Amino acid sequence: MQAYQFFCQNLILPLSDLILGQRVSKTLKQLREFQWNSLDKINSYRDRKVHLLLTKATERIPYYQDVMKTLNLRSNSMLSYDDLCRFPILEKQTIREQGDRLIDPRFTGRRYKMMSSGSTGVQTTVWSDIASMNEVYATQLLFWEWGGFKLADRHLQTGMSVDRGATKKLKDMIFRCNYFSAFGLTDKHLQLMLEQIDRKKIEFVFGYASSIYVLAKYLESIGETRQLRSVFTWGDSLFPNFRQVIERVFRCKVSDCYGLGEGLQCAAQCEIHDGLHEAMHGVVLEIVDSAGNPCPTGEIGRVIVTRLEHGCMPLIRYDTGDVASFLLDPCPCGRKLRLLSRIQGRATDIVSTPYGDRLIVHFFTQLFEMVPQIRQFQVRQEQPDRIRILYVASDRFEVGLLDGLKKQIQMNCKYPLQVDFVPVSDIPLERSNKRRFVISNVPL
Ligand SMILES: [Zn+2]
Repeated sequence: MQAYQFFCQNLILPLSDLILGQRVSKTLKQLREFQWNSLDKINSYRDRKVHLLLTKATERIPYYQDVMKTLNLRSNSMLSYDDLCRFPILEKQTIREQGDRLIDPRFTGRRYKMMSSGSTGVQTTVWSDIASMNEVYATQLLFWEWGGFKLADRHLQTGMSVDRGATKKLKDMIFRCNYFSAFGLTDKHLQLMLEQIDRKKIEFVFGYASSIYVLAKYLESIGETRQLRSVFTWGDSLFPNFRQVIERVFRCKVSDCYGLGEGLQCAAQCEIHDGLHEAMHGVVLEIVDSAGNPCPTGEIGRVIVTRLEHGCMPLIRYDTGDVASFLLDPCPCGRKLRLLSRIQGRATDIVSTPYGDRLIVHFFTQLFEMVPQIRQFQVRQEQPDRIRILYVASDRFEVGLLDGLKKQIQMNCKYPLQVDFVPVSDIPLERSNKRRFVISNVPL
């Protein structure tokens, strides 16, 4: 470790904790030990935390007092980890409807307003507190350590904010972050990023998978590569072809992280770069089917998250809208933290049929990757028995290609899915500037 990094790790971080009233440095030390705990130790920690969370929530939160009555619970003193699955799944809709009834009236500390990304079209406000934020910051630092990053290593980050604000700018300067907006990725903007990487000898790049993919594609188009040590992605789907291009162009591995704009760090890839380890110190993840029942390991379902810190607004069984599965095999790294598959997109990114077929977004992206005669596509499912595929044809397009695509799709479905193709001149981006490949209104 270089002298400056040692200084940041051992002096600046604890000092900023002291000034800001945080405990990031201490929490990070705890997490570094916790990650190597035995499964027994991890489970007994979580039993304790879930018991505290459920007890406090049912004592203090009006919404959870109602839940107690619905569940016919007279006393909350015996609530355990096994009771967690009896609690209702917290939908974004419920958060909007219940409003203040989800807030702890006795909470007196500082509250932080967090917003979901809104990529499902519904934006949700969730309140966080200092203890939950400590956990998030420390977990993020731990995830980055897994990818070889040390605090104050020079890095480039792409993000949502156009204006970083004075405190963040100061932090960027101290911790050597070069921040760029992930929007408006013109060649000029990308060129500026590259100049920064070269001038500052940057070895780590962080940000939205799609924005880093665009940067890598740009480099490739001008016939260049760069040698980085690690790339960290989050925020939107890291498609297999995104990963291939980024790893080829930056000549390093991509570590995918899974967090939520609502102020949660849920899982990330370790140095093995396979599944994503669940952040079991801070959250409980569940994978459930459309009826809310747990999916068997290996089966894809909705990701439900519980934040173990109670805070000012407990998040118990919050429906993320994302889709993934748990993996069966343990990770060769030796950590016992449960493994999650990569996030397979959002629930609305999956075509499902009456026979239970599930075609994930990656299925379609890989299929269409083989057909360069189609420039863009978007799959839309309004009814369970059929899909419409909008496509933008290139000059070399022949209509016969569509039969082949239809066969490929139908071969992967037990249900005789009707597939219609609709030629269009353009497929508009979402309001969030993201490209949606699949939009399904049929519940998973
Ligand atoms: Zn691992």
